Amino acid sequence: MEVQQVLHMNWGNGETSYATNSKLQELVINKAKPVVIGSISDLYTTNLPRCLRVADLGCSSGPNTLLVISEIIDAIDETCHQLKLTTPEFQVFLNDLPSNDFNTIFKTLPAFYDQLKKEKGDKFGPCSITGLPGSFYDRLFPTSTIDFLHSSYSLHWLSQGLIEEAKVDSFNLPFYMPSHKELEAVVCEEGSFYLDQLQIFDVNWDGSDDDDDNNKAGFMFDRFISGQKMAKCVRAVAEPMIACHFGETVIDILFNRYMEYVSDHLSKEEGKFVNFVISLKGK
Ligand code: SAH
Repeated sequence: MEVQQVLHMNWGNGETSYATNSKLQELVINKAKPVVIGSISDLYTTNLPRCLRVADLGCSSGPNTLLVISEIIDAIDETCHQLKLTTPEFQVFLNDLPSNDFNTIFKTLPAFYDQLKKEKGDKFGPCSITGLPGSFYDRLFPTSTIDFLHSSYSLHWLSQGLIEEAKVDSFNLPFYMPSHKELEAVVCEEGSFYLDQLQIFDVNWDGSDDDDDNNKAGFMFDRFISGQKMAKCVRAVAEPMIACHFGETVIDILFNRYMEYVSDHLSKEEGKFVNFVISLKGK
């Protein structure tokens, strides 16, 4: 089966869904927020488009999907307020692979629009949010139509297929984590953009925040709870691919064992994800 059909986060809002288990990704979005807000405000005040076209690549389905969009909208609203400008119209494209749970996102849109109207008044916008199914490795938009592209925790997914061989040997997770040197080299070689900002930070595997007051020491206070959170988060991401390859029946056992391994590992050392926040500007 094509990787694009198999790669999607767990659907819906239930116990094992991505929506319920994406706190870690939310933390990353919050940490990257200053760069996102700085870049979008900068872009807006430089170009002052009447309609601001924004796309989120790999938007998934869950609280993070509209979190990013509302951050962007809030930042523009605030900038316009400070500079006494009328807010632009917003056209937002939520992109993900076709098997993403777009329906769950669409159902939350009326409440999101109501909230915008309530917070920002009738003069704001209008704002239209559309789903755009397709791979960001293919062409998604006509040339020069998008002002601002955002993507968080999506670019490490590769587009290669899954190889059919002996089950374990052939399980090929299409996933790559580059070093910052590799990242810089790719941007430089591709040639359309220059690297405006690069920040590096890490987050705990369990999504707990070292900046939280009750977690100042960066110490994972309970390795079992941390192991459970990490296992649930990875399950929400990887279950469809693993179930497709190895069968549904292995899932509960596999993730219970995985939780034990993670807890065990965390009793010996800390687990951290390293994150890059990059802001690119067109040349
Ligand atoms: N940005 C969200 C979701 C991250 S999960 C957040 O921060 O919470 C990664 C998402 O990228 C998944 O929904 C996955 O389906 C999507 N994705 C992976 N490869 C993709 C591709 N080639 N094109 C579009 N979306 C892709």
